[in-house]
Amino acid sequence: MIPPQVPFQIHNAQAQDANITGFFEKVDTNLIKLIQEDQLHPKPLMLCSGGTSSRCSANGHWTLDLRRNYKTINFNALEKDVVIQAGVNMNELLSHLVKENRIFPVGLSGITGIGYILTGGISPLSRKYGLAIDQILEIEGVWGNGNKFRKFKPGLLTLEQDINEWRGLCGAAPFLGIITKLRLKTNLLKPLYLWESSLSPVQLSKTIQIAESWPDYASLHWIWGDYIKAFAIVEIDSLGKMKDVEGILNQLPKTIDSKLFRISSLNKLKEMKVPVIENKESNKRYSEVLGLLGSPLLSRSYEFVKSIEEIMNLRPNKQCYLAAQQLGGNTMRASEGSTSFVHRDAMWKPWITGSWDPKSNDEKDKSLTWMVEAWSKIEPYCPGVHLAQLHDHLPWHTKEVNAAFKEWLPGLQQLKSTCDPKGILPPL
Ligand SMILES: Cc1cc2nc3c(=O)[nH]c(=O)nc-3n(C[C@H](O)[C@H](O)[C@H](O)COP(=O)(O)OP(=O)(O)OC[C@H]3O[C@@H](n4cnc5c(N)ncnc54)[C@H](O)[C@@H]3O)c2cc1C
Repeated sequence: MIPPQVPFQIHNAQAQDANITGFFEKVDTNLIKLIQEDQLHPKPLMLCSGGTSSRCSANGHWTLDLRRNYKTINFNALEKDVVIQAGVNMNELLSHLVKENRIFPVGLSGITGIGYILTGGISPLSRKYGLAIDQILEIEGVWGNGNKFRKFKPGLLTLEQDINEWRGLCGAAPFLGIITKLRLKTNLLKPLYLWESSLSPVQLSKTIQIAESWPDYASLHWIWGDYIKAFAIVEIDSLGKMKDVEGILNQLPKTIDSKLFRISSLNKLKEMKVPVIENKESNKRYSEVLGLLGSPLLSRSYEFVKSIEEIMNLRPNKQCYLAAQQLGGNTMRASEGSTSFVHRDAMWKPWITGSWDPKSNDEKDKSLTWMVEAWSKIEPYCPGVHLAQLHDHLPWHTKEVNAAFKEWLPGLQQLKSTCDPKGILPPL
């Protein structure tokens, strides 16, 4: 174990500033012994793979930081699958695969680590290829009880216990074990069109409705700050499909600032920034993110956008924002019971970001209160939760866990009672 004086640079400012007890960088016999003897207090042990969430470290807690010693990527040219260790981030994975003419459905940012994959992983290409968890073929790690495991995607002869464990690991792994290695399916690299534009609320509601009937190779995402920026990503399947691609692009609103780019892959996406007219906020911000899930909006898209407009009018500062990603297509086709991502009917993932100046408790309280208010406004349209960020330090953790796992929660809790009986990892 390493005392906390060693620099612990992580993306998330809140996690970076946490006054940790110390950290480990290897899942070795020493750490496993401490886990088995329940010697790491206070619990839970925090896990850091990409270091992008607020809960990869916490005041007074131990952190297991996998970023330095778990960096291997091995592409198997024959099977077209890839084995990654837990410290690989999505930029590194995609850059490696692109050289092999392959891709993985990474999310909107390449800085995320395998937490992106383990918590579901919604990509702009998920409608075509499925969620990131749908690409997992094999998982290696250590349960919260200290036992090592290696699990394979279930087949016809897989035992019920193994099927349950697989289901738990795909979407709820952070509650059950420490994942050290994943084997993942990859897909053929194809070029993409990226359309972006500022939209009015009415244009957004129309675009949402149009996008709901797009083919799987197109998806919409948007972000709302002082104004709305929307983005469409369309994969160019083959030259024969160019007419269809043009058809999709022609449906989009014609605005003064709309732009169309051709990009080679998702690692060429620019970081999505909150659209603000004048940023007066401090550079360093703390934040929490709450991800929701809901089915197609259809004719309710206008009232949904109106609700969001009301929320945005109440935001306590300019770095608090709302955004959304589109699911559907292949994310809907996987069976509800195959993974812990139970909201297979979801078409939209809106997420609420509350942000505050680290020095202002008042701003923090206002931002967290605004998040709860925003949640209750969006909940009628999006009752599910995408648990991509853990909030066991916040009062809404139980509600969030319930909304994330629904009827599967008791099964998951049962699994946790054997895989992590002492609660080494975050509570369910
Ligand atoms: C800029 C940005 C863009 C994003 N875009 C998307 C997107 O397009 N789609 C999407 O679905 N999500 C997106 N997210 C959310 C992101 O995928 C989740 O917050 C994810 O949990 C981050 O994982 P991480 O490894 O980067 O972070 P970390 O903070 O290191 O880990 C996050 C959580 O995952 C758990 N965890 C990490 N490593 C392990 C491990 N080895 N074993 C078990 N549990 C582990 C930990 O409990 C930790 O609390 C985005 C986040 C950011 C910051």
